Amino acid sequence: MPNILLLGGTTEASALARLLAARGISATLSYAGRTGNPRAQPVPVRVGGFGGVAGLADYLRDHRITHLVDATHPFAAQMSAHAIAAARLAAVPHIALTRPPWRPATGDRWNNVPNIAAAVGALAGPARRVMLALGRMHVDAFAAQPQHHYLLRFVDPPDSRPALPRHSLIVDRGPFTAGGDAQLMQAHGIDLVIAKNAGGTGADAKLVAARQLGLPVLMIDRPPAADRIEVYRPEEVLVWLAHDADRGV
Ligand code: NAP
Repeated sequence: MPNILLLGGTTEASALARLLAARGISATLSYAGRTGNPRAQPVPVRVGGFGGVAGLADYLRDHRITHLVDATHPFAAQMSAHAIAAARLAAVPHIALTRPPWRPATGDRWNNVPNIAAAVGALAGPARRVMLALGRMHVDAFAAQPQHHYLLRFVDPPDSRPALPRHSLIVDRGPFTAGGDAQLMQAHGIDLVIAKNAGGTGADAKLVAARQLGLPVLMIDRPPAADRIEVYRPEEVLVWLAHDADRGV
């Protein structure tokens, strides 16, 4: 019988957890523990890091995991690299449930940068009003460009005040709409949006809003693609479980 470890923290992971529970397939959903109030899940949940590649490989063996599904966020590059390495070590079939990156549409004014450091560098220059739609993890890096006013939106209230001298903070976990985000940008006089190319439908409202308002977007590209099997829909994981995983692909 399959016994799945599902690395989560995303909408896709929650969707797959529902699908597995509905089919009576044994699975544990793993959270890093970054948000204070994760949503209730229909499968058992564990929280916290595994202790690197070796820790994850031990977990796979100790809990007799038969399949590892990495449904972490496309920017959770370290966890995804650990998943590949630990699955190899423990000889457990592995798949990634992820999302295609966003592509610019007509009317978009994107400047692409490869990472956060490059985004910070690109902000050198006169003061602007910037919507920094990155989540709270990378916000402090932007203190290196303190001349700008930053509009921040976090899922949870932060433990400490963000290190940006000029900012407004909104706590809201969405879902967001293009109309709502356009209103927000106008209310705050935003003239630049900074986003990570997360992909998916949950977080693209700000991009549609920026397009509607003709605002430029500084788009942070994804970490380099990993060597792994990737699918985009939870149902495809079920197909893999039923067929491909048994053939060792
Ligand atoms: P990361 O930098 O790739 O991972 C850092 C460490 O956190 C990992 O080495 C691992 O610790 C632990 N970890 C990460 N995901 C885990 C999981 N699902 N279960 C158990 N441990 C986990 O990851 P991150 O970018 O900080 O993201 C953390 C979590 O937030 C992920 O679950 C991700 O799906 C979610 N998330 C991230 C973003 C983003 O933009 N990065 C956005 C939305 C949601 P050990 O080495 O000790 O095992």
